[in-house]
Amino acid sequence: MSLIATALSVVLGGFSAQAAALKVVATTSLVADLVQSIGGDRVAVTSLMGPGVDPHLYKPTAGDIIKLTRAEVIFYHGMALEGKMGDLFARLSRQGRSIHAITQNLPPEEWIVPEESPQHPDPHVWGDPRLWKTCALKVQQVLVQLDPEGKELYVAANQQYAQRLEEWMAWGKALMDRIEPSKRILITSHDAFNYFGRAFGLKVVGVQGISTASEAPLADIIHVVDLIREQSIPAIFVESSVSPAIIRRISEDAGVQVGGELFSDALGASGEKGSFESRSWDLGTYAGWLGHNVSTISQAMVPSGAP
Ligand SMILES: [Zn+2]
Repeated sequence: MSLIATALSVVLGGFSAQAAALKVVATTSLVADLVQSIGGDRVAVTSLMGPGVDPHLYKPTAGDIIKLTRAEVIFYHGMALEGKMGDLFARLSRQGRSIHAITQNLPPEEWIVPEESPQHPDPHVWGDPRLWKTCALKVQQVLVQLDPEGKELYVAANQQYAQRLEEWMAWGKALMDRIEPSKRILITSHDAFNYFGRAFGLKVVGVQGISTASEAPLADIIHVVDLIREQSIPAIFVESSVSPAIIRRISEDAGVQVGGELFSDALGASGEKGSFESRSWDLGTYAGWLGHNVSTISQAMVPSGAP
């Protein structure tokens, strides 16, 4: 083959790979990042919700509907996280669209089910990297089914991703273990951290419950203030996708510092960097979600100078 022909085939090869990228629409930034991590160059992912957007309250726009109908495959979180989109998902499914909940294969025995609403398991499963691995495998399976030529790449990406999750988990656990055992209580705006707490050994108190759709009753606020005083909790936290008003009020009433802003249901801005000790991350990725949260909690809850 002549040099020119070789160059031409490289250009065409590159072009055809580009043209063949699977058009994916994901609902939340966390789901979009997961699909991108497994799909690599073979997928072109659009996220409906950007940084700081609350999925419980999000209503799809006319533009979203157009994006969804043009997608070759749609990934959403499921477990009623996207509380206002359930009817739309059902309609898209009836129309025969390729639409998948990434949480579909999570075994029910892994669910955290709140006593007050037994029919609604807590959807915030990304707080536990082991469960996020199961979601990654679901994404891999769907991509392999739709694009069998990419199978090797998807399987390899998933294996690598699972290994990275194990590493982040071990690192995060070591950081949380530095907190004095009696103070391992994470107080935030809403119950987004129950799986995170179970995975990393923290008791979790969310003032607003599982969804952000309702306000916290006064009795709950008083209970949290008492808890902070009794246990001498060093810090409480606001969330990037939820109004900070209640946490600020509790902070004043209990005389406790706000230890920082955690990412709960959305990732941070893509390209924005963070780091702590030996680790660094991009806030627009799952590693950034975890890294930012565990380092923020650790810095606020562990007295400086403690090992
Ligand atoms: Zn939430």
